[in-house]
Amino acid sequence: MRYHCIIDAYSKDIIRQMEELYAFKSAFLQEAEEGVSYVLCRDSTVVEGLDRRISGSAAAIIAEDYCPEAVLEALGKETALEDLYLFGSGISGNELSVRLAARMKGSSVTAVHGLECKEQVTVKKMVYASHMEGTFRMKKGPYCISLAKGMDRQEPEKGTFHIIKEIRCTDVPGFVVSRKTFANASAGGLDEAKVVIAAGRGIRNRENADYLQETAEVLGGELGVSRPAAMNAWVPMNRLIGVSGAMLQPDICITAGVSGAAAFYAGIEKSKFIVAINTDEQAPIMKKADVVVADDFVPVIKALRELAEQ
Ligand SMILES: Cc1cc2nc3c(=O)[nH]c(=O)nc-3n(C[C@H](O)[C@H](O)[C@H](O)COP(=O)(O)OP(=O)(O)OC[C@H]3O[C@@H](n4cnc5c(N)ncnc54)[C@H](O)[C@@H]3O)c2cc1C
Repeated sequence: MRYHCIIDAYSKDIIRQMEELYAFKSAFLQEAEEGVSYVLCRDSTVVEGLDRRISGSAAAIIAEDYCPEAVLEALGKETALEDLYLFGSGISGNELSVRLAARMKGSSVTAVHGLECKEQVTVKKMVYASHMEGTFRMKKGPYCISLAKGMDRQEPEKGTFHIIKEIRCTDVPGFVVSRKTFANASAGGLDEAKVVIAAGRGIRNRENADYLQETAEVLGGELGVSRPAAMNAWVPMNRLIGVSGAMLQPDICITAGVSGAAAFYAGIEKSKFIVAINTDEQAPIMKKADVVVADDFVPVIKALRELAEQ
């Protein structure tokens, strides 16, 4: 089996994508034949500027602005029906893997964390809010998969890609009607933060979310939230932690008013140190954290902030 990696160079986290793809191929594709890496980018200088590579050769798929439809047109022409296409974790990887498979009448599975290619291609992914691991047999090539969030990372080998071709995307008329960029649409450095305050339903309102956001900044960190806090619009949806949001690995994660449901906990379990503040001693998070404070989060966070400000 031959495999190809697809890297989204429009995204700020290109290094993380490459490290995750490289770790995945090292773990599961040692026996497979290496193909071409496709780098989605504005111009090929992005590829030339990389001093790490995840395969010997690369093709640059070039467009001024990222447009999935145009990328799929270009990628579809390159796709070999028996090959495996490996996309990074995240929204664009999930979308492209599913839509490429649909176009080419192949198979796709998103958020994959394991793979076996013998006579058949089987992949593993977490299902039922991370309560169960599912193993799926992919029926037909091309096999298009995207990685699960928070996969192990491995630094790719030193060196530059050999660029074998540049593929210029052509406009797909009528697909993008207009573009507007929102300044606050980014979750800042949540994915890479070393210190995270993770707030849940127990913080009760937006004012407390604002206070925790400021406190996170005082600590040099970021605020993330559980699903109820995001669904109540106390903070933007892109601050959501868990299987449906960001998978984090900070040095310290302080949870406030979070019960510790499996779907949330999956997003913080790789933290080096977890502090849980919860009024309920029996909450699941209290059994998983390194340090617990069985109290109302308000005085505890206030005291922490005062200490940090001093
Ligand atoms: C398919 C699926 C995907 C999901 N994906 C996600 C996901 O990605 N992320 C996610 O977060 N959830 C996700 N969920 C929802 C998840 O299962 C939980 O419902 C959610 O995480 C609970 O959020 P919570 O801990 O904030 O709320 P609750 O479970 O209601 O917990 C609130 C906690 O706050 C404590 N508390 C109350 N007042 C205070 C106070 N004053 N001080 C301190 N503590 C206090 C309470 O004791 C309680 O333990 C998903 C669910 C499904 C089915």
